[in-house]
Amino acid sequence: MLGLMQDWPLTVDRMIDHAATVHGAREVVTRRLDGSLHRTTYRDIRDRAQRLSAALQGLGIGVGDRVSTLAWNSERHVECWFGTMGIGAVLHTLNPRLHPAQLAWIARDAGSRVLVLDTTFVPLVEAIREHLPFEHYVIIADAADMPAKSLGALCYEDWLAAASGPVRWGGFDERSACGLCYTSGTTGDPKGVLYSHRSNVLHGMIGMSGGGIGVSAQDTVLPVVPMFHANAWGLVFSCPAAGAKLVMPGARLDGASVYELLDRERVTLTAAVPTVWLALLQYLRQEQLKLPWLRRVVIGGAALPETILRGFEDEFGVEVIHAWGMTETSPIGTVCTLPAALAEADHERQIAYRLKQGRPPFGVELKLVDEAGAELPWDGETQGRLLVRGAAVASGYLNGAGGQILDADGFFDSGDVATIDPHGTMQITDRAKDVIKSGGEWISSIELENLALLHPGVANAAAIGVPDPKWDERPVLVIEPRPGATVTADELRALLDGRVARWWMPDDYLFVETIPLGATGKVNKLLLREQIRARYTP
Ligand code: ADP
Repeated sequence: MLGLMQDWPLTVDRMIDHAATVHGAREVVTRRLDGSLHRTTYRDIRDRAQRLSAALQGLGIGVGDRVSTLAWNSERHVECWFGTMGIGAVLHTLNPRLHPAQLAWIARDAGSRVLVLDTTFVPLVEAIREHLPFEHYVIIADAADMPAKSLGALCYEDWLAAASGPVRWGGFDERSACGLCYTSGTTGDPKGVLYSHRSNVLHGMIGMSGGGIGVSAQDTVLPVVPMFHANAWGLVFSCPAAGAKLVMPGARLDGASVYELLDRERVTLTAAVPTVWLALLQYLRQEQLKLPWLRRVVIGGAALPETILRGFEDEFGVEVIHAWGMTETSPIGTVCTLPAALAEADHERQIAYRLKQGRPPFGVELKLVDEAGAELPWDGETQGRLLVRGAAVASGYLNGAGGQILDADGFFDSGDVATIDPHGTMQITDRAKDVIKSGGEWISSIELENLALLHPGVANAAAIGVPDPKWDERPVLVIEPRPGATVTADELRALLDGRVARWWMPDDYLFVETIPLGATGKVNKLLLREQIRARYTP
């Protein structure tokens, strides 16, 4: 017997429609490329997104066609998303920090027909144009701001103005593709994750839920995390659906610029990878500033270092929400909200808990397995491969890349190594490929790095396993000191001593000017390993 309830399609156009109808006057603020602030509303964004749908149809774009963007977080980028998705076309975010050859490869793999880009990226696109598949280019600018060399592209504002009129959205299956984002390739060839309307709506709802990020109509949200990094962690869906004010940082993600927006726009919730927060905290201390409006900061994409947690909570009174996820999980996988049992616990116990990656919100399931795929206990100690299943988790990659990616129970292997405690709290030990295998046991590179970051002179740290004839691998700690600071191997040794097992102590400390970062702002260990390989080849 079927229920007698309405079949209300879970399509993302309804999220911006809801914002326009119920929170129509709520502001969306964007830092333009020239640094000025632009203000608009959800109602205006919805109307312009519908014009953009008409403009796309004018180029022959329809259901299933791919439209790529190479763009910073801005209100126009949001218009492109909803204007594309609303007609059943697929919005594909390209990550401009990737190598140009990789960008071209991805664009071709995606089979994308249109590229909508910020003026910043015109030279980059010009240089690889012959390798790109696009039939049309649209530059996000007013006629007055169009660059002189402009790819023969359409001017975004003129293109919208000339569109035939608003278009009715919807009319397709909620399981239709709506977004495409490639894994950044730190673990091999990039692979396309193809989100559906349904998965993005459900994920957006997880973002609004208390066990997720808890975005509400009272919030003013600054997604520093780019829209090209796993959908700005779903915030571009959760914020309009919740009616939160949205503040878009454009191209300026440095400490001073982020602080200015946090303060001027009275941001209550923000999100980004740890490297962004290291820079902000440094700036706040240097300028002796406070964060009177900010209540919560979501930190994910890489493990949360204790120094960032203590910095925000102890110095600035801002709650840190540590979260784990992947492009393949849309990305929210776990969120570390404090369990009720720890609400009264002392500060140090709470801090120790909050460094973990957290529990899965409803809609996400976890499994821990050994190398043979057999389930491991949730005892908080046994390490195993972390598998995930849920309403917004990938079931395969675009064009069949990677083949069959689910186990017999429909779980996806995250490639991370973790523990899960009896209460379902997950802690990442490492990425499977970064874990340091010494004498048949595993050393957590994340733990060594986070301890090293407690040294005030350390700007960034990376623990790498180097070949060892006796132990297979041994840890080396690569350190990027802060400008002007001196850090010695002895100081680091003293810091680690007693905090980790003896056999975890690094065999060497290597001081470098900069630790390379990858396209999503995380340490690029693949490159770092290559850079130091010769030094440690026996
Ligand atoms: P890529 O795999 O290309 O870097 P993703 O952004 O999808 O792109 O990265 C997902 C990976 O990032 C996870 O599998 C995990 O290794 C790492 N990660 C994400 N969040 C955290 C976290 N809070 N703690 C530790 N690692 C994390």
